[in-house]
Amino acid sequence: MKILVSACLLGVPCRYDGKSKKHPEVEALRAQGYELIPVCPEVQGGLSTPRPPAERQGDGRVVNREGTDVTAQYQAGAEIALNTAREQGCELAILKERSPSCGSGEIYDGTFTGQLIPGDGVAAHRLRQAGIKVLGESQVETIQ
Ligand code: SF4
Repeated sequence: MKILVSACLLGVPCRYDGKSKKHPEVEALRAQGYELIPVCPEVQGGLSTPRPPAERQGDGRVVNREGTDVTAQYQAGAEIALNTAREQGCELAILKERSPSCGSGEIYDGTFTGQLIPGDGVAAHRLRQAGIKVLGESQVETIQ
């Protein structure tokens, strides 16, 4: 079984701050026979690393801390993630929690003050819309 996975959870230093968020329990899925397909919607959508942090706004746009609207890049990255999932036959995605792209269930509120609100990142939303199940890294144990 193939699972779409946020690349930063697999040790790729593609986060806004140039770091990764390597998650051993996600990587351990390989030993259980799962094939992990990495995607980074922000980088694949055209953003560089490092980059200013960005948050979804109440109107759905994504704006970075410098005030630049990066919605188009986020949407492009979400489509690439969805295309990859379809090409690879992934019915499940494990994505980095709280990211404006990959977050599922809760994301930051757009004020850059650390406040969380219910919601999905742009790519997580697009994948769910297309019928792909999305889990966060803290839910890995639920797939066994
Ligand atoms: Fe990780 Fe997703 Fe952010 Fe890329 S877009 S750095 S994969 S959380």
